[in-house]
Amino acid sequence: MQTITSVSEMQALSERLRMQGQRIGLVPTMGALHEGHLSLVKIASDIADVIVVSIFVNPTQFGPSEDFTKYPRPLEADLAACEAAGVDYVFAPEPGEIYPKGYSTFVVEEYIAKPLEGASRPSHFRGVTTVVAKLFNIVRPHFSVFGQKDAQQVAVIHKMVADLNFAVEIIIAPTLREADGLAMSSRNRYLTNTQRVEALVISRALRKATEMVAGGERRVDRLIAEATHLIGQHRRVRVIYVSIVDRLTMEAVKGEITPGKSLMAIAAWVDEVRLIDNEIL
Ligand code: AMP
Repeated sequence: MQTITSVSEMQALSERLRMQGQRIGLVPTMGALHEGHLSLVKIASDIADVIVVSIFVNPTQFGPSEDFTKYPRPLEADLAACEAAGVDYVFAPEPGEIYPKGYSTFVVEEYIAKPLEGASRPSHFRGVTTVVAKLFNIVRPHFSVFGQKDAQQVAVIHKMVADLNFAVEIIIAPTLREADGLAMSSRNRYLTNTQRVEALVISRALRKATEMVAGGERRVDRLIAEATHLIGQHRRVRVIYVSIVDRLTMEAVKGEITPGKSLMAIAAWVDEVRLIDNEIL
């Protein structure tokens, strides 16, 4: 496995690989890798000749009061995990390599990115679409794998790829959870044991919604009320949103859900740790 930090070196390598007819798969990450990330690598390895994992804590997707500086950066452990998972190249640039002085171009998806995360983190998706567009131009992958854990991100990236004619296939990987249901996330590292136990109510609320749907419930207001009620019983957990949206457009579903097409998305603070999770209903 080789680690590359320069844009020009990565572009030259991709060019060579493409000339050789190799199929390049990209797994973009912000590092602090966990089994969820590695499940994306596994999916990529089934269809790629060459797997590139990018590790880049992208400053433009963090708001001014968010956790950019304290975001975990265990690079050595991440490189070891990539090597063990059979990754061929890690692209791990410094921020100044991606955003040199005077950088001024951004990619903005203006519809799907508006609600949910977009409403509570106004410039978040502008940062995500910009860095992913740049990664696609730098790594030139044939396909790229994203997790359903970040459902809105996947929907926004899909739209960006379609609207801007990127020749990159987007593959969606299911959410990996801990045995007790907590969705794996790099931010789980911030949780104390007590907070972690409280955080479980998020996945429990989602599970309750899927059970209600399996039992025949279709009404959006009832599903949201029950999930909100469950979370409300936990003192440390504060709901940012509990929404039921179309899984592709992120538009709020009114009245009744369409099984398989609707998604319950939850964002909540567990004390000062912001977590998101979702389930397709
Ligand atoms: P991040 O490092 O948080 O930017 O995540 C990098 C990629 O891993 C994104 O496509 C995420 O959706 C995906 N991912 C994060 N957590 C999980 C998980 N628990 N299961 C599956 N994919 C995940």
